[in-house]
Amino acid sequence: MRIDSILRSKQSFSFEIFPPRGDLSVEQARGIANEMEKCRPDWISVTFSAGGSGNSQNTVEIARDIQEAGKTTALAHLTCLGSSKADVDSIVDRLESHGVENILALRGDRAPGREASDFHHASDLIAYLRQRGLCVGGACYPEGHVECESLKTDIENLKLKQDAGVDFLVTQLFFRNEDFYRFREKCTRARIKVPIICGIMPFTSVNQIQRMAFNCGASIPAAVVKRLVRAGDSPEAQRVAGVEYACEQLEDLARNGVDGIHVYSMNKPEIARAAHECLVAAGYLEA
Ligand code: FAD
Repeated sequence: MRIDSILRSKQSFSFEIFPPRGDLSVEQARGIANEMEKCRPDWISVTFSAGGSGNSQNTVEIARDIQEAGKTTALAHLTCLGSSKADVDSIVDRLESHGVENILALRGDRAPGREASDFHHASDLIAYLRQRGLCVGGACYPEGHVECESLKTDIENLKLKQDAGVDFLVTQLFFRNEDFYRFREKCTRARIKVPIICGIMPFTSVNQIQRMAFNCGASIPAAVVKRLVRAGDSPEAQRVAGVEYACEQLEDLARNGVDGIHVYSMNKPEIARAAHECLVAAGYLEA
């Protein structure tokens, strides 16, 4: 199903998985997707690793499995920095041949040797994919993208995604809902009208939250630090602290009329289930 149609009828609920890489086999990734499907998400998104052999193939393969299993919809991520139109066409042809019609169009992070060729910004990829008739999402950043000097400029650039025809936006993870509400308000003032889906990551360890925050520029509020300090060195206590914190964020978002909630479930079905339970308890999802 097309995600723009889903979003016209309801507030969405979705998960993310990353496809096979390193020690993670295709079978294991399929197993994770199967477990997550039991929570009946509106879609599962499959991340994309730019560069390196076999990565795009893995995204296509897992997105295909999700789509063809027929239990939910697949959203395939696709980055464009360093890719030509022919590269993009080759991946999109494969996705379309398996019935995948939803793509999250991203620029991708800058890296040595990954120079822009046919696409400079995500908005270029969005416009290109829209010409092909696909349902296209884009990324947005409640605290501003790391490279951008101000949130104001970042939102001006975000408007270019809407002008290019983006159907919906998914936020980078954030740990303070106030940052999201402020961002949503600024987007409204900038006449950004497409649905904005909140990305929430239940953190599972101190190392993980530090790595994620550094990579994407999200701030870690004192409330999170205090919980982690109280959890001490126990991995289980850190995991519980992360799930409890995310649950409070999710309950608050559920009360505040958001367009959708996307859980960065980090290939952990138990985290996906915990988020699902919170949202059922909050009345956002049906049991
Ligand atoms: P853009 O929209 O191109 O923005 C990048 C920067 O350029 C911003 O600072 C923006 O303000 C600026 N900019 C945009 N347009 C213009 C313009 N016309 N002129 C001047 N400046 C401009 N990465 C992966 O590698 N794989 C993934 O699967 C993946 N999934 C993601 C999912 C989500 C929901 C999010 C939020 C991010 C994801 N990323 C992923 C990370 C993403 O690739 C990086 O954040 C990347 O640095 C920026 O991507 P973008 O699509 O937002 O780029």
